[in-house]
Amino acid sequence: MKRKITRAVRLGDLCLGGGAPILIQSMTNAPAHDREGTLAQIKALEAAGCDVVRFTVPDMETVGFIDYYKKNTRAALVADIHFDYRLAVACAEAGIDKLRINPGNIGGSEKVREVAKACEKNRVPIRIGVNSGSLEKRLLEKYGGPAPRALAESAVDQARVLEGFGFGDIVICVKASSAAAMIEAYRILSSETDYPPHLGVTEAGDERMGVIKSAVGIGSLLCDGIGDTIRVSLSADVTREVRAAKDILLACGLCESGIDVVSCPTCGRTRIDLIPIAAELRERVEKADLKPPRLIRAAVMGCAVNGPGEAREADVGIAGGDGCALLFRKGEIIKKIPEDEIVRTLFDEIVSLCREEDKDR
Ligand code: SF4
Repeated sequence: MKRKITRAVRLGDLCLGGGAPILIQSMTNAPAHDREGTLAQIKALEAAGCDVVRFTVPDMETVGFIDYYKKNTRAALVADIHFDYRLAVACAEAGIDKLRINPGNIGGSEKVREVAKACEKNRVPIRIGVNSGSLEKRLLEKYGGPAPRALAESAVDQARVLEGFGFGDIVICVKASSAAAMIEAYRILSSETDYPPHLGVTEAGDERMGVIKSAVGIGSLLCDGIGDTIRVSLSADVTREVRAAKDILLACGLCESGIDVVSCPTCGRTRIDLIPIAAELRERVEKADLKPPRLIRAAVMGCAVNGPGEAREADVGIAGGDGCALLFRKGEIIKKIPEDEIVRTLFDEIVSLCREEDKDR
């Protein structure tokens, strides 16, 4: 897939945009003044594979936590600021890696200038975060509501304000709770600017619907080549957002490493209990948190109709028979295995493939 090459922005030790790998983001939800609770979430997110963690900074006391968080995590940290430009300036001075502000609610152009000045001096990029729930009144009137064009126009206008102060380290974001609306808004935005887009469906819902909406919204844009960082917003444990974000990248073919377990839906031909086998294998793979240097595909197929073809194309796979299965590795039939050994055998094969790939690295 051809990705749109955007302007590169430094984010701590990371690069965002400019063709760099797509970064996964999430946000803590522990109370802002609960320093230990917030740090525990930052660490849990980092362990789950989150590259960038955002937390809310409502007052000067919480600005004081930044140094402590920075010392205790390697994830890039983003301060979420509303209304008070002094907090944004203080976060930039305190070593935050990025600010998320809405220049429209930070209090007039002089205050935005102060924020831009502090960010320029401390090399802190700014994410302009527009979302359908907080659009300017004039744009709501102009477009008759939070239309995709209104979202894009708001973000571009806000970027122009920062550009007017000579500031260009901008990440841009136009979230809506409708996947269709956000897709259109980001497409417009992408045709009008080259700032790296932060993709997300806002207020996406609980885990089931939120993952579906995010997969449609974020996934469609990624398949268009749009997007340099993603956040899946779920009413669920924060680490589930990271899991979902990784799965969306995998489904879009944007994972350079990991394990992709594919399995057939089963049908009247299936003669093994395939559904729990596929689920157990996926669970074991997830728990093992294997990190091969490339993407490894494992196929769990029910029968000899489509099974051998799919299992052959995968790195490792099975084609089910009657209470047994044929094991394939790199296109070759290795052996016949009884049904109750399928999960263990496939898992062992995956681990051994990971080791081999690691040796060849
Ligand atoms: Fe049915 Fe075989 Fe296809 Fe699975 S692979 S759905 S068992 S035909």
